[in-house]
Parts: sequence; structure tokens; C-alpha cells
Amino acid sequence: MYAAIDDTDNQNEMCTTYIISQIAIKSKYDIIGYPELVRLNPNISHKTRGNGALNINLGKGKGNKKIVGKLNDKYIYSYENIEEEPEADEVMDFIYGIVSDYYVREDENTNPGIVVSSGRFHPQLYQKALEDDIKLEFIENYLDGKAIYRKINNGHGIIGASASLAWPGEKITYELLDYKYPHYNFLQRDIKLSMASIAEKYKSTFNNIDHANSYAAIFPKFKTPVIFGVRGVDSHDLLKAYNDIKANYNINDDGFIIFKTNQGTDDHIVNEPEYLFDLGSYSITVVISSHPYNIQGGHFFIGAKYKNIDINLAAFEPTKEFRKIVASLIPGDVVKAYGSFSSGTVKLEKLKIISLSKNLKKEPPVCPNCHVKTRSKGKLDYRCPICRRRYKNPEIYTVPRGIKEGFYEVPVIARRHLSMPLKLINYFGEENDMYNWNSGNR
Ligand code: ATP
Repeated sequence: MYAAIDDTDNQNEMCTTYIISQIAIKSKYDIIGYPELVRLNPNISHKTRGNGALNINLGKGKGNKKIVGKLNDKYIYSYENIEEEPEADEVMDFIYGIVSDYYVREDENTNPGIVVSSGRFHPQLYQKALEDDIKLEFIENYLDGKAIYRKINNGHGIIGASASLAWPGEKITYELLDYKYPHYNFLQRDIKLSMASIAEKYKSTFNNIDHANSYAAIFPKFKTPVIFGVRGVDSHDLLKAYNDIKANYNINDDGFIIFKTNQGTDDHIVNEPEYLFDLGSYSITVVISSHPYNIQGGHFFIGAKYKNIDINLAAFEPTKEFRKIVASLIPGDVVKAYGSFSSGTVKLEKLKIISLSKNLKKEPPVCPNCHVKTRSKGKLDYRCPICRRRYKNPEIYTVPRGIKEGFYEVPVIARRHLSMPLKLINYFGEENDMYNWNSGNR
């Protein structure tokens, strides 16, 4: 029986993943498979942080058993298969009790939603939750007769909760989250950086540290029960990284849970759609149509054409060194741009330079008799300052571009949870054609 929850926290407190850890440790049921942390549309305005929704499958387990966590010195196991499913109402009462104990009660903008369902939902709902801003009534109609749900406050969390159960899990990564309730003491920056370096030393881990910007990405930006989170594609390596960190640093944690996630999968990206919609995220092949320019605050823009539509590509200040790539593009370059679309602008997450055009410059020719550069006297009129001889044609030369074809990505410090890092492109493959049947068709 799947139990899904969302919208239990606010900027300053709690994390819905922690509530899952409490469900896992307090449950009289077995856990089937991994608990799931599913990231949804990164472009909607009413998210708290990374727009993550959670679910866990509960029942009587059978088959192989593996460790998915450890809390208060007790290992948490998960079974491969389910033998017997509990009653939905019984699971709902249990989950409702835990959510009621932990959600941020004093914040009226926290709107928890719980969905309990014996089956998963159609991936089309997941795709919609990655591209659109879904209305509450839509989800209530959707759930009618399919699953039971409970709302606290306006219960907006049932949207994310339902969408998490529609994730087909075609591309999978993992995150090990380490907890201390209500939050951990201050850790010094250099300690944080060396802990994050341990997390990133595996071939299978990603987005854990930004060396260039000295940023330890395993730590949350806000005070929550999460001490750190290590991301990777191999759950065994996450356990090794956790043990390694614990062996090297005296971290007094409550314990950890490993989540199966869609982080780093580019699932939000629709490849080469017919139309671009606000709130959508795309990968599109464009021809650069203007020279780059920057505005106050260090944000860089460049004009481009996608299927006869004029758009802009943007690299904002937080994308740091990536802005140099945008700044070195010129008209005629062909690039594949990845990012979210809003008001005619793609906010770049990564870029593949497909072909570079020649940067040709004109200069007055050198006079062959006097060996000095001629002077321009108007259009196609160059005159030697010594012998006064006139020439019509300028000298054309190619300026080296100083940039190569290939992929470039924003640094970890500016990376979105869903964005596929280049480190994973060989692992997952480049094109995201999985759900294109839905694109441009809303
Ligand atoms: P955290 O990352 O800490 O879990 P969050 O960023 O996920 O926080 P929430 O507090 O969970 O933020 O709020 C997100 C809200 O947006 C939830 O109510 C969820 O149901 C809703 N939501 C998620 N995706 C969509 C969508 N595509 N359309 C409309 N609402 C959505």
C-alpha cells in the first residue's frame, strides 16, 4: 500500500523526507522497495525549496531484504516484494498521525496532503507535474475512485503526493539523507568541504561538491533535520560514503535513510518540442542570432532562433563561470540549449555547442609597395598613407574562437535537482525522448 505525502515543511523548519524517516522507524508494516523522493516542476512559484514529494510502500514483505536506513541505532530494512497489503484506511490513520506530529503547524502556508493507494498512477500525471501548474480540483477529480486522500489546511500537498506515485522510475538515482532532529549544530566551512569531498570521490556520486566555487552541496541551505545528503547512482557507494564520513568526523546523527529519486535524470526536459510553454523545461537546438550582452547584476543574455521563433538564452549571475561560455557565443553558432522557459527566455542549465561559426574580421589591407597598413577612407576605399595608392578590398581574417564544440554545464552551486550533470550523461544517454508523446500537446 503506497503512502505519499507532500507540503509539510516551510523554509525554516522540517523536511518532508524526515517525516518519511519517522514513518519508516515507527511503522508496524514492512517497507517494500526504497522510499521515493520525486522532484517535480522546478518552475512553479509555490514550492518551498526543491519541489520534492515523497512516497513509501508499506505491507508484509517477502523476498530479499536490504538495508535502506538506520535510525536510533536500529537498521531499517526493505523487502523486494509484497506478500500482503494492509487496509488503505488503516495505513491512512497511521500516516495521518505521524504527519500531524511533525508538519509545521504554526505556518498557515503549509498545506500537507496524504494520498494512500494500492497502485501507482499513470506516468502522464508525472509528466504533467513536471511541466504544468496543476490545480487542486484537477487532482481531487483524478483521485476520485482511485485512491484515498486526506488534506490538512487546504491540502495542496496532495498534488505533489499523487504525482510522486506517477513516477515510472525509468531513470533512477539515489540520495542518502542523514538526520538530526530538530537540526544539527553548526559545522565549519572547511569541515563541510572535506566531508563533501569524501561524498564526491566515487565514480557513481554526483552534485555533492563544487570545487571551483568552494561550495559543499551536501548540506542544506536552511535549518532542517537534514545534516547532509549524498547523491549517486549506486546505493552501495552511498553507504560507503556515509561510513567514510562517519569514520572521519565525529557526527552525532540520529541516522540515515536512502531514497530512490529522479534527481539528476533530466526528466523535466522535453526534447525539441513543437511549441514552448511558460513553466516548461526543454532541450532545443537553436541558432544564435545576436551578440551576447550583460545587464546589471552580472546576468548574461544572447538572442537565438528556435524554429523561426526569436528567444533569449540566459545565464544568470549564480551560474558563475558558465556565463563565460554564453559570453563567447556569436551569431551563426548552433547550440542545443537546456533549461526552463519563461517569457521568451530559456534559463540555461546546460548547453551543447554543436557547431561554431567562423568569427571573421575585416581590416584595411597592407600596401604591397610600402608595407604599411592602409587607412579606411569610406566604404571599400582604403588608401596608403605613403604612396596614396587606393585599394578596394579589405583583408579578411579569422579570429580564433577560444571555445570548443561540446557540452558545458552550470556549476554545482547553481544546479537544479532534476538537471542531469554531465558526469551522468554517459550513464543515462544524452537524449530525453521518454515522454515526448506529451509535449506541445497541452
Ligand atoms: P521540500 O523540497 O522541502 O520538500 P518543496 O519545495 O517540495 O519543499 P512544498 O512545501 O512541498 O515545497 O510545496 C510544494 C507544493 O507544490 C505542494 O503543495 C505540492 O503539492 C505542489 N506541487 C508540486 N508540483 C506541482 C505542480 N506541478 N503543480 C501544482 N502544484 C504542485
